[in-house]
Amino acid sequence: MKSLTSLQGAVLVSGLLGLSLFLGVSRQNIRRKMKCWMQRQHLALWRSPCGTQRQAQELISGPNLATGARLLSFNRTQSRAAIGLLTGHNTLRRHLHVMGLSNKPTCRKCGTEEETSAHILGKCEALASLRHRYLGSFFLDPEDIRMLGVGAIWNFAKGTGLL
Ligand SMILES: [Zn+2]
Repeated sequence: MKSLTSLQGAVLVSGLLGLSLFLGVSRQNIRRKMKCWMQRQHLALWRSPCGTQRQAQELISGPNLATGARLLSFNRTQSRAAIGLLTGHNTLRRHLHVMGLSNKPTCRKCGTEEETSAHILGKCEALASLRHRYLGSFFLDPEDIRMLGVGAIWNFAKGTGLL
């Protein structure tokens, strides 16, 4: 009877018992390494200076699995409002004005500044008491906004009636 070479034996055993035995690395370890690699790539892309998400980068600290999981628990209306407010892709006047869909970009609540996400979430004086009620402070800087939960942002957005 002809004997198998060590490589032929390894291929035969790996076919019977799975690839992990052949490679000497468990499937779980390969998945964990791939997940870490994808997270590093995502973070590098987020921090890239040539990124086009100017407003999102101003108000979102970066990729966050917990926030992603929370957003997945939202219904369509909730997620649209929260994501729109954080990314600037929403129905606020500044964005509509840029797209040529609104005559003026000024805030509907105070009328003094452009109606942007940063203005609504942090600066608008007409929304100060509502902001204090839902977000815990009368005025917020972008650094403070990055620390907020998406649930609080949704509640605030709903309260404003703007989105
Ligand atoms: Zn305002």
